[in-house]
Amino acid sequence: MSRQLFVTTALPYANGKFHIGHIMEYIQADIWVRFQRMQGNQVNFVGADDAHGAPIMIAAEKAGVTPQQFVANIAAGRKEYLDGFHISFDNWSSTDSPENHELARQIYRDLKANDLIDVKTIEQFFDPEKNMFLPDRYIKGTCPKCGTADQYGDNCENCGAVYAPTDLIKPYSALSGATPVLKSSEHFFFKLSDQRCVDFLQSWTQDGKLQPEVANKVKEWFSVRTNPDGSKSEGLGDWDISRDAPYFGIEIPDAPGKYFYVWLDAPVGYLASLKNLLEKRNENFDAYMAQEGLEQHHFIGKDIVTFHTLFWPAMLKFSGRKTPDKIHVHGFLTVNNGEKMSKSRGTGLDPLKYLSLGMNPEWLRYYLAAKLNAKNEDIDFNADDFMLRVNSDLVGKFVNIASRAAKFLPHGKLVASGEAPDMRSTDLLRLVADHFDQREYAKAMREVMTFADNVNSLFDAAAPWKLVKEGHVELAAEKSSEAIQRFRVMAACLKPVMPGVATAIEQFLQCDALNFTNAAIPLTVGHQVGDYQHLMQRVTPEQLDALFELPAAPEPEKLTPGGEELAPTISIDDFTKIDLRIAKIVNCETVEGSVKLLRLTLDVGEGKTRNVFSGIASAYKPEDLIGKHTVMVANLAPRKMKFGISEGMVLAASHSDEKLQPGIYVLEPLPGAMPGMRVK
Ligand SMILES: [Zn+2]
Repeated sequence: MSRQLFVTTALPYANGKFHIGHIMEYIQADIWVRFQRMQGNQVNFVGADDAHGAPIMIAAEKAGVTPQQFVANIAAGRKEYLDGFHISFDNWSSTDSPENHELARQIYRDLKANDLIDVKTIEQFFDPEKNMFLPDRYIKGTCPKCGTADQYGDNCENCGAVYAPTDLIKPYSALSGATPVLKSSEHFFFKLSDQRCVDFLQSWTQDGKLQPEVANKVKEWFSVRTNPDGSKSEGLGDWDISRDAPYFGIEIPDAPGKYFYVWLDAPVGYLASLKNLLEKRNENFDAYMAQEGLEQHHFIGKDIVTFHTLFWPAMLKFSGRKTPDKIHVHGFLTVNNGEKMSKSRGTGLDPLKYLSLGMNPEWLRYYLAAKLNAKNEDIDFNADDFMLRVNSDLVGKFVNIASRAAKFLPHGKLVASGEAPDMRSTDLLRLVADHFDQREYAKAMREVMTFADNVNSLFDAAAPWKLVKEGHVELAAEKSSEAIQRFRVMAACLKPVMPGVATAIEQFLQCDALNFTNAAIPLTVGHQVGDYQHLMQRVTPEQLDALFELPAAPEPEKLTPGGEELAPTISIDDFTKIDLRIAKIVNCETVEGSVKLLRLTLDVGEGKTRNVFSGIASAYKPEDLIGKHTVMVANLAPRKMKFGISEGMVLAASHSDEKLQPGIYVLEPLPGAMPGMRVK
């Protein structure tokens, strides 16, 4: 009986083009889907753009288009990648589709009816200029732990501290620069801490739906979790699922101005894309989902495990829907990881550039298959390894068999079945099929290449070219026919990975579309094959150089430190003309009538104090400076100013363009310096 499979890949965020990580995930899922289809199973394989959320709303505003137009532009670029790498989605939709709006709202209503939605008032930063609540990523300020300026609202890139945006010192809005104000707002929460959810998830996450290493990780979340401020809490926490207007998303039923947080409606997009597909085919979505034995498989990256192993199954379960059967988690793809020391090749792999260079997409599919297993493990794309595997495995071992053997067939006719007890074609097909089903692609590829080695050895030992010279034309044809028959078995095994090459081979062999069943039955003796056409080129080092060519180094910019060029060179005598002294700020006050100036009373060890005006009122309050030491020009001619006489000048640093880099910083000596000491 054939299996019914509903398969998805993670929905890419619609604020940029696909990168190689997306393509890897799609290839991993596509190989599995193509294998299942070859087994006669019924698959619906769908994807969609994840269209909602503040980042897209803000990016659209910057681009001067509506969010809808913005995501439509992104969506228009998807096909080129998907077709280019032979990704066989049945449907590609968007989370902003009518189906998703309807489904997300219905799931919410069902959860609410099940008493799993809570309303709590929370305090959040609000941008008074933009008139909106600020997502964590759009609040910046000084790190409360290490004091580094311009850090994001959720964590510090300098010291790695994790905190709440409200902990930031001098917070500001990254959108407008305004100082945000705290404002309270009602938020909706999915009660994940409800005992029903906890009981369900504890069992659901540990009964074989997740890879063992993923299940182990998830287990930890039931006992302890880390709060944004770094403190720990016991068990699962409730999940904040709402955001305030303005927000690009789905409005929450009966809650004007409240929208679903993007991560609530993103996975619903899996169902919505499927519904969209089924309706195009005049099939019933509810009936499809209700059929017994339907398997729901999600392929995802390791960064979004929480959403797919806690929130998503609980949302489905308690809204009365089918829960996923398997979550297949993969690691990250690094590029030329081992070559970081080499400057000749970059560490980025642009999928479109790969295609535009005329590189064969099936090389990449094969290479990734040769590295992927069922575990949540990172893999590395290494350019030299890639060339070696493609050229030696695919071209040298596999394709070569057909090109060498075809020329010895009399009038293109097979004269032998190729069935030999030592070769066990049926064993290979069964083994490889098992590996594909278990997503152990690397093992599958190894089996095929070992088989190819054996076929080549037999062919070399038989040496048909010699047999022909010696007049044994029939024996040469027999040995070559055996090789071609076994080549066909290997082609079936590689078909989920290299669908294009497999089609070309089916045409060459003039045989039915290959699968794991019919490939076990040899072509009949006397079967006519077509003319051999070259099936695959080799990868060249030039292609790889072009693919990883680093962008030309930019013209070295003339550095202007602090925004201004260095002053002309002076001699030491010129310098000693300036008498710099340590001064203690014994008093400091604002200057009535001036917003710029502070009046400083300085002790320079002269037994009397000096009066100095300094344009630093924008940076310091008087109380910040009183008692501090600084450096002053002590022999500057006194200057009569509107507010009195200034008897010197205090040293302070600033950028030449204050708009570019604001701030004035008064110099302070290291501890121990005494008033009157000369600075030289
Ligand atoms: Zn820090």
